[in-house]
Amino acid sequence: MLRVSHVVIVGGGFSGVLLAINLLRHGTVRVTLIERHPDRLGRGLAFGAAHADHVLNVRAGNMSALPDQPDHFGQWLQSRQLGDDGSFATRQDYGRYLCALLDAAREEAGTRLAVVHDEVIDLTLLHDGVEAVMQSGGRIAADVVVIAPGNLPPHRLAAFSGMNRPAYVDDPWARAISDGLGAGEVIMLLGSGLTAVDSALGLDAAGFKGRIIALSRRGLTPQRHAPVSSHEKRTDRPNGTASELVSLIRARCDAIGWRSAVDELRPFTPDMWRAAEPDVRQRFLRHLRPYWDIHRHRIAPLVADRIDAMQSDGRLEVRAGKVVAARMEGEGIIVTVRPRGSEQVEEVPVARVVNCTGPLGDLDRTTDILLQTLTKRGEIRADPLAIGIDVDRQCRTIKADGDTQQRLFAVGPMTRGAHWEIVAVPDIRRQVWALAREMTGAHWVEAEGL
Ligand SMILES: Cc1cc2nc3c(=O)[nH]c(=O)nc-3n(C[C@H](O)[C@H](O)[C@H](O)COP(=O)(O)OP(=O)(O)OC[C@H]3O[C@@H](n4cnc5c(N)ncnc54)[C@H](O)[C@@H]3O)c2cc1C
Repeated sequence: MLRVSHVVIVGGGFSGVLLAINLLRHGTVRVTLIERHPDRLGRGLAFGAAHADHVLNVRAGNMSALPDQPDHFGQWLQSRQLGDDGSFATRQDYGRYLCALLDAAREEAGTRLAVVHDEVIDLTLLHDGVEAVMQSGGRIAADVVVIAPGNLPPHRLAAFSGMNRPAYVDDPWARAISDGLGAGEVIMLLGSGLTAVDSALGLDAAGFKGRIIALSRRGLTPQRHAPVSSHEKRTDRPNGTASELVSLIRARCDAIGWRSAVDELRPFTPDMWRAAEPDVRQRFLRHLRPYWDIHRHRIAPLVADRIDAMQSDGRLEVRAGKVVAARMEGEGIIVTVRPRGSEQVEEVPVARVVNCTGPLGDLDRTTDILLQTLTKRGEIRADPLAIGIDVDRQCRTIKADGDTQQRLFAVGPMTRGAHWEIVAVPDIRRQVWALAREMTGAHWVEAEGL
């Protein structure tokens, strides 16, 4: 690893902020954190766009930002009488927790931490450093740059091209989606995963009294958390061909329950992912991912109860099918849907359509100016599955010609091609901790560890 005295971090969401905190904590480096949306600093999308009743989908006991202090967030909640380790705290409270951590780091670091509100639109890679070029025209030089851009926004289905608000809503966390709609109206959510759950709760909280249809290819919805069960966890990585692994995991489901069987894999999934042949990863994405997602990324029981209630009241209907076409009619949209397993299509008139298809990671289709520019110039490239930015195990980005960048790193969900399990807080905090310790040389100190 290079000698580093100044690090620029692009993106001030969870990944960028936590990397900054760890760099300041473990070394003597200077850090410049650049965030384009001042109100998202420390919160990012997940904790900055949340409504008051959106809760975390992980218990507080596993949401500490500091891996060496696992009860840090639980204690923060407790000291404010907001919950404890077993609680599913609100996402807004988690955002406050992260901002408090950043404030404390800023106070302690003094001039070692600079926060800049601007958008990085390009990076100039030199042999002895990197320069970040900003929308405002400013430039900041550093030894290395780490991009922490979060997920790319979902792509729009071709059927809805040219459609806009209020009828078509691209941002599922936008406010006032249901304004002006009465009890007889229908809103269609494209997708039935975590984003659709967020959107349904948001519409309910905003007082929408009409019907919501959540449409996805398979009509699968996230499963609920259950009380933690105790059992002996596996200590070694499962090995075998793809079908052997599936049988093995099925057997564990029978023995200890599916939740525990999925959870005990967590320490091993990045290695299992890396060990899999590219065609196996591709097959996993095509056939198993939807099932993996709903079992692995579960929702809090309180949220599941609300979704169940909306379904039994007839206010929420989850359908399996595919959008074939869509056209504007009056102020609404007629969506042509082919139900799963059917040859027939049906026309569904709706007042609004909300894109809840979830984040995508295809660099070649992104409209993000920085990522687009770096990709076009070959400074970064898509991973082989086109689900994110190609990086090595140390988070160094890979150029189009296959060379490893020594001064350009990427962290967070966009590194999922290399690590797979890099979406939730427990995984990202481990990633940025390791990178910060490597950049500062702190990984040589034996006493501290995870
Ligand atoms: C809605 C939602 C709910 C979630 N809930 C949970 C949960 O309950 N538990 C859990 O463990 N995980 C949860 N996650 C997952 C996890 O917390 C996120 O993946 C994580 O917060 C990602 O943080 P990030 O900083 O990488 O990305 P983001 O939060 O997207 O932050 C990226 C930031 O970078 C900025 N940026 C990007 N490009 C530039 C640029 N060129 N110049 C300047 N700034 C730039 C953006 O403005 C943004 O603020 C959730 C994710 C989402 C989306």
